[in-house]
Amino acid sequence: MSTLTQVARDTQVFDLIGKELHRQESGIELIASENFTSKQVMEASGSCLTNKYAEGLPGKRYYGGCEVVDEIEQIAIDRVKELFGASWANVQPHSGAQANTAVFLACLNPGDKIMGFNLAHGGHLSHGSPVNISGKYFQPIFYGVEPESGLIDWDKVEATAVREKPKLLICGASAYSRDWDYVRLRAIADQVGAVLLADISHPAGLIAKGLLNDALEHSHIVTTTTHKTLRGPRGGLIMLRHDFENPFGVTTSKGKTRTMSSLLDSGVFPGTQGGPLEHIIAAKAIAFGEALSEEYYNYAVQVQKNAQVMAKAFLDKGYKIISGGTDNHLMLIDLRPKGLTGKLAENTLIKADITINKNMVPFDDQSPMVTSGMRVGTAAMTTRGLVENDMERIVDLIDDVLTNHDDDAKIAAAKQEVNQWMAQVPLYS
Ligand SMILES: *Cc1c(COP(=O)(O)O)cnc(C)c1O
Repeated sequence: MSTLTQVARDTQVFDLIGKELHRQESGIELIASENFTSKQVMEASGSCLTNKYAEGLPGKRYYGGCEVVDEIEQIAIDRVKELFGASWANVQPHSGAQANTAVFLACLNPGDKIMGFNLAHGGHLSHGSPVNISGKYFQPIFYGVEPESGLIDWDKVEATAVREKPKLLICGASAYSRDWDYVRLRAIADQVGAVLLADISHPAGLIAKGLLNDALEHSHIVTTTTHKTLRGPRGGLIMLRHDFENPFGVTTSKGKTRTMSSLLDSGVFPGTQGGPLEHIIAAKAIAFGEALSEEYYNYAVQVQKNAQVMAKAFLDKGYKIISGGTDNHLMLIDLRPKGLTGKLAENTLIKADITINKNMVPFDDQSPMVTSGMRVGTAAMTTRGLVENDMERIVDLIDDVLTNHDDDAKIAAAKQEVNQWMAQVPLYS
């Protein structure tokens, strides 16, 4: 009879995990949405908690045997409330996109109008893209950046909102390097009777530490991922600072109006998910604990400093950064003045073990598979311990590889330098 311990180790898969670890350790990681979690975050993600069903919330579950996971989930909730100054949080969304879908279910009816930041200008597909549920089940309209400045013009956002009267106004982006004016956005939302959703997936860690504007104070609802600057496991999260009665008159079967926190809980489960991932929630709890530390504050400050130095280094070499710089951890570079496409940049840099992602730039004339831009961020390499002068060296290397994209010897030399450098700043060993 076969028992669990007698099953042979699956070397086919574990060999590949080993290869991936080697890839992460030997290269320069500049994908702005990625980071490296601590060992304890990974340990919790790979724990026995994966075996447990726990539909419902701590103390109110549909399954028995939840005493332990109740405690774990409550720690995650309490810590994240402290971290962001929230009065309520749901830590169960499996991802950032799932968190947004739960918000839509809580606030909207199918066909309602939503207004988000244009995907082609740096927005996220879960904010109304026609290929996403947000664009298929709701009626999306968009705002974007100005061609000259690369910045959002809040007067234009207001004019569009007043004309279109969306029920949900969404702010937040995947490739916008500037801070958001939540005070102005809330005033616009109030003027048209919309709910303001701030999706802080990218800069969440910088917001938690007070390095960017406080999204929670002025937004009705805040969603985020937990794996970008926040440096936790892959997952999502919904928060409120101020709970409120749902503004669109949804009532219970007994005719009572429901608070937004209660609608959001239902929007996650049973609305859009089944059982929560308690192993990931444990890892979230650990990451939130880490993020409450002084050490993480210093990390977040360094992420922002590194991004500013990196942006300046790119500008000094004649690269065009959309909006001319950065307030957060990332920047979007328009490669057209250099005569390059995003695809060529991504494919060439990877040969030197430098990972970036190609990205559409505002008013791009290339397809999404080619693009005219690249997006880079400093969250991952700052975790690795790199500081300002290292950013200058990274930009030298990138410029060298892109300028000599036909020169295999030059690219090989860059790769050798990258690998030797990364061997000196170990990730997990
Ligand atoms: C990354 C991101 C998401 C989606 O997160 P997933 O966990 O990949 O679903 C949502 N919104 C924004 C703004 C993002 O940058």
